[in-house]
Amino acid sequence: MDPTGAGVDTDVRRRIPRTDAVLRDPRLLRAAARLGTERVKSAVHRAQQRARDGAVPPDAVADTAVSLLPESAGGLRPVINATGVLLHTNLGRAPLSVAARQAVHEAAGPTDVELDLRTGVRARRGRTALAALRAAVPAAGAAHVVNNGAAALVLAATALAAGREIVVSRGEMVEIGDGFRLPDLLVSTGARLREVGTTNRTTAADYAEAVGPETAFVLKVHPSNFRITGFTRAATVAELAPLGVPVVVDIGSGLLAPHPVLPEEPDARTQLAAGAALVTASGDKLLGGPQCGLLLGREDLIGTLSRHPLARALRVDKLTLAALEATLTGPPAPTVEALGAAPEPLRRRAERLAALLGADGVDARAVPSEATVGGGGAPGVTLPSAALSLPERYALPLRTGPVPVVGRLEAGRCLLDLRAVPAADDERLAEAVRAVEGR
Ligand SMILES: *Cc1c(COP(=O)(O)O)cnc(C)c1O
Repeated sequence: MDPTGAGVDTDVRRRIPRTDAVLRDPRLLRAAARLGTERVKSAVHRAQQRARDGAVPPDAVADTAVSLLPESAGGLRPVINATGVLLHTNLGRAPLSVAARQAVHEAAGPTDVELDLRTGVRARRGRTALAALRAAVPAAGAAHVVNNGAAALVLAATALAAGREIVVSRGEMVEIGDGFRLPDLLVSTGARLREVGTTNRTTAADYAEAVGPETAFVLKVHPSNFRITGFTRAATVAELAPLGVPVVVDIGSGLLAPHPVLPEEPDARTQLAAGAALVTASGDKLLGGPQCGLLLGREDLIGTLSRHPLARALRVDKLTLAALEATLTGPPAPTVEALGAAPEPLRRRAERLAALLGADGVDARAVPSEATVGGGGAPGVTLPSAALSLPERYALPLRTGPVPVVGRLEAGRCLLDLRAVPAADDERLAEAVRAVEGR
């Protein structure tokens, strides 16, 4: 590299192609349609500078510009989640199903999100997604969708309890992650928290004593990212429902019905049947959908929430509604598939990949592994899984390769856990591992 260009003879400099000539390269024309002309021009300028510096030959300017351009205009890169954490917050939690991706694609242009095409007049926003949600949870009288689980709680607290009291157990004052604490969130709405019981034990009588004219609702929060064991007790929704005030249940992870793999995880249907007035949940946890907050329950309460001015600030866009509906009505989402995956096929996939890569000289072994739900669901539950075990030095090049693969380090090895990797991605995974040796 020679920044002054002094070492490059003027003849070479004269052979560096002009910008408009380089921009006529078909690959760069296509890139301009995808990424915008300015971005492509700037890549060409950088490539020309490299040629002036003597770092690349003049006839490689177009190739260099092409190599400097990203795949898409968005900065987010698709990665393969081989961490063994099904809902990895840093990897965007639930991956969308093919049906949901297609629905997002279709809704991206003008769409009838808020218009009845037959009558030509305004219609309820997202009515088909809401209908799908109600069909999935028949016990709910009505449904509403907001930006995320936290927004669902904020809306419920603001619309139902501002200036009044929310009765909540001291064992359910949860931090959901990254410093966000539900009690702080609730108090920020102007509601007062009336704490009852102790960290490990709260009885129905504790709630009954606290409920009075100031009570807006009783809140049950699922401790979705920790476990308290030993001398413990918690009141059930069925015990609290007769207290005469609404019981709001934040189930967290968004199971709409009980799941055989996670018998301890609360679900919307069961909570509503037990007498919950309102259930809140996240759409991008175990439901496997887009980021959103679900509110399910009594029609009068949902009506109050959805008409509150704050509802407008928390409303979701058409893309979210499209993805949510497709998640609810389409084939099982990847998260649901990963949760239900049997250990034996996972083991066979790991062995096949290990044999394939071993034949290429890679130190790859198939090993048993333990996956987790993560993302604030099923704390303490491990799911039997299988992984490809590689030397630890693979971790960084795998993360930074053309198809980034995120694994986890364990006992000096880099493990690529297959439970959250769709089987259709096995070839891409193998290719990414092979590419590490090539670089
Ligand atoms: C995850 C979670 C939340 C927050 O939901 P977001 O969708 O992340 O805003 C709230 N409560 C519980 C119990 C959770 O598990």
